[in-house]
Formats: sequence, structure tokens, C-alpha cells
Amino acid sequence: MMEKTIAAVATGNAAGGIGVIRISGEKAIEIADKVFKSADGSSLLNLEGYRAKFGNIVSDGKMLDNAVALVFRAPKSYTGENVCELSVHGGLFIVEKTLEAVFKAGAEPAEAGEFTKRAFLNGKMDLTQAESVADLISAEGETAVQASFNALQGSLSNKINGILDSLMDCSANLAAWVDYPDEEIPDMDDTALGDTIINAARDLKSLIVNYDSGRAMVQGIDTAIVGRPNAGKSTLMNLLVGKNKSIVTNIEGTTRDIVEESVRLGNLVLHLSDTAGLRKTNDLVESIGVERAYEKLDEAMLVLAVFDSNRKLTKEDLKLIEHCKGKKAIAIINKIDLTQRADIDLITSAFEKCIFISAKKAESTKELEEAIKDTIGASQFDTSAPILANQRQKRCCETAMNYCFEAHTSLIMGITRDAVNVLVDAAIDELLSLTGRKANIEVVNNIFSKFCVGK
Ligand code: GDP
Repeated sequence: MMEKTIAAVATGNAAGGIGVIRISGEKAIEIADKVFKSADGSSLLNLEGYRAKFGNIVSDGKMLDNAVALVFRAPKSYTGENVCELSVHGGLFIVEKTLEAVFKAGAEPAEAGEFTKRAFLNGKMDLTQAESVADLISAEGETAVQASFNALQGSLSNKINGILDSLMDCSANLAAWVDYPDEEIPDMDDTALGDTIINAARDLKSLIVNYDSGRAMVQGIDTAIVGRPNAGKSTLMNLLVGKNKSIVTNIEGTTRDIVEESVRLGNLVLHLSDTAGLRKTNDLVESIGVERAYEKLDEAMLVLAVFDSNRKLTKEDLKLIEHCKGKKAIAIINKIDLTQRADIDLITSAFEKCIFISAKKAESTKELEEAIKDTIGASQFDTSAPILANQRQKRCCETAMNYCFEAHTSLIMGITRDAVNVLVDAAIDELLSLTGRKANIEVVNNIFSKFCVGK
């Protein structure tokens, strides 16, 4: 147990039906007992874990509010320590006053993420699970929730621990060979060792390869809506957003800069950018907008290239088609309620997916949603599979993978076993720091500093 007993508001910083003050540490229940008087006169000190009492919060001899005190006894709590949660009416003032009373009774303010950090330090979860708590809190769509929840349940930890176990076996064998070269050590021959190391490298590689799509599913997909002026980009954006945020007008060049909006599309979150119409212009402001539109197109994970089917294709349209090559892009052939004048075959031959739509009449939106999911690979995405959640985890995997590949090559080339073992051990160290079994305290502090207070 950490020596300080900490407290913070666990619920959001806004008025609500209920506000919860969480206290954790050796003295959590004693402190709660000083500010909470149960209706039946009994003390919290004698209350078993997982039990609640109804009563009142008393501060400076005055009754502040009705409350429910919920007691958890170490190690059976979120943090692994004694915990008491006081639920009061969720007015900001009441919550603040209750917290103040808890501080006066001996608790200290919790730092950002300190409850989860204690859970990690007390062995209730590893680092990947702790990171998934932050992801779960910020999740905006169902896919994000599922993926973060699976990580919290240990899907990534289990995968990494499996790889670690096999590498540790290799390391033990290699060390035995080095220490007792004359003994017969039959456990693993060179081929078995090589196979284990290369399989570990491949497992890590597949986690790394899926990182981008995993992140896209969890954090949302940066989507650029591009096309020449008047193609219907803003109308499409409004259709997807479901409210009139972008300026819609038939005067060319009105969306001069980028308008951004996030929308939920089924299980996915799209971060949409409605860009300036692509055309040659002498207007300085507009030309900057056009430049930014191309930048956005290059950066985006998904491009919705909008074409006006009612007009002949222009040089800008052809340039746009060229720019979309090699990108995840969908051609939106718009204004199908009007006569078709554009060379549709040219567009359909350049894009894998084309959607014929009338953005104005809100037609074909279902097809558009399906096309987006297909293009991004959401339909095949398995949220129950382990997914790397951030750059830190990815870097650890990459470094470990590189050590494994190097160890494998060294083994094949007949380099001494102790040299091979140094590489295997280096890979093991990286994976231990990934899960936090051997993490540097600065890394740990940095992870939890990004949490909110009260989590
Ligand atoms: P942007 O410059 O590409 O953002 O184009 P806007 O969304 O501002 O649309 C330009 C004009 O085309 C507006 O008058 C829209 O109402 C009109 N428009 C957009 N989509 C359609 C459509 O599907 N059919 C028809 N008939 N008009 C459309």
C-alpha cells in the first residue's frame, strides 16, 4: 500500500444526479468514517468490503447532504487498497464541499491517474490494461469501446505474455548451453530455437502491421472530402453530419478553408474535413485553401472524392483522380438527380469504389456508409483480437521484433549462443517494459499524467 491516502471526485466536472468522491489508501475507511454518519448509527470501520451504508455527510458539525458510502477492502478494490466511495447529490458545490471535508479528515488530493497508477503498482493490472482504461474513457464509438474493453480484459497482455514465455524458454536454453557447454541439454535444438524466435518476431510483426487500422477503428478515421467547387462537398458533409454546419451556397469558392466535424457512422467514428474546392485561382486566400485541401488529401486515411455528374470533367477533376491513386478513396458521383454529363467511365475505371448519389436529396447514404466501412476494412476488423493502443506500445514491439529477427539471423549464421542470447534478452526486456513488469518510472509517470484526476 502507498503511504498517502488519496481522494478525488470520480465523476465528471459538471452537475449531475450523483457525484462520487473516491478515497483510496490505508486510511480510506477511517477518513470516510470521519465525514460520513450512517443513518443506523453504525461505523464504517466495522463494515465488510462490498457493503454500502446510507447516511449523511457531516462537515464542521453541520449536515451537508445525504450520501451512500460504499466500502471496498484491500486487496479487493480497483486500486488494490482500502477504498471508500461516497455518493452524494451531484451538484458541483456539494461535491466540492464533500471533497473538502474528506481532505480535512486527512486525505490528500489525488494526482492525475493516481487511482489507476496504484492499481498498476499494486499488481491489479499491467500497463497495457491501465492504458486501455484511458482509451475506454475517451472512446467515442462502439468499436473503440469493444477494443479498449478487450485490452482491459487482458487481450494484448495475454498475447505479449505468450510471446514473452516462449522467448524466456529460449533464453533459459541458450543460457544453459553457455553455462554448461559439455552437458547434454536436449530441450531445444537450434532448429526449434530458431523457429521459436522467428515465430515471436512474426507475432510481433502482425501486431505492428495492424496498428494503423486498429488505431483508425479506435480513434476514428481522418476523412477528407475533396473535389472541385460546387461538386457538392459541403452538401455531402452536411448529409453525413446531419446538421447544417458547412456553408452551402452555389457561389463557387465559399468553403475557403477546412471545416471539420466528427460523426459516428455505425460502429465507426469519422473525422470529416470539408476542404476548399480544387481549382486554379488568383485569389491568394483561396489558393492557400486549395493547397491545404491537397495536403489534407495526402494526410487523410480515407478520401471522399466528389464529382459533379452534371458537368463535364475538368482538369481539376483529372488531377484529383491522379492524386487519389494508391490511397483509400471512394469516388462520390454526385447530383445523379440531374442529367449526366461527366465521363462516368473514366471515374469508375480509376476508383475501386464508386457511389452514385444525390447528396441534396439525401439518396444512397446507406450505400455510402457500407462503401466507407468496406474501404477502411471495418467489416473484417476483429475487435476481440489484441490491438496495440499507442506509439509507446508499438515502439516496444518494433524494437523487440528487430532484436528477434537479428537473433534469428545470428543463430542461422552460427554466431555464438551467448551473443544470440544477448539479443533474445534485449527483446524480452522490451516486452517486459511494454507490459510494465520492468518499466522505467518516468515512462510510468508519463503514462498516468495523461489521465484525468479521479481516474
Ligand atoms: P461544394 O462547393 O462542393 O461544397 O458544393 P456545395 O455543397 O456548396 O453545393 C453546390 C451546389 O450544388 C448547391 O447549390 C447545392 O445545393 C447543389 N447540390 C449539391 N448536391 C446536389 C445534388 O445531389 N443534386 C443537385 N441537384 N444539386 C446539388
